[in-house]
Amino acid sequence: MSDTLFRTLGLIEPGDLVHYHGSIPSHHGLYLAYPCDDFTCARGDVHGSADVRYRLTDPFSEDPDATALRCVRGLSITRSDANA
Ligand SMILES: [Zn+2]
Repeated sequence: MSDTLFRTLGLIEPGDLVHYHGSIPSHHGLYLAYPCDDFTCARGDVHGSADVRYRLTDPFSEDPDATALRCVRGLSITRSDANA
């Protein structure tokens, strides 16, 4: 992966619409991305500051918290053009 790609991923801001294309094919689709705030990620010394993890919530789910994806790597999501 190139440095340019990492910088692009760094532009994802809380509440941005993103496309998940990571390791769980059944969950591929559009989500709202927020910084992962669970204990592991909040410590910040596990993954390293250069490897920000995200919590993805399904805006169409009746129970977004229950269906949220946690600790998703930035490489697994792409900021959606639908934000424009
Ligand atoms: Zn996490």
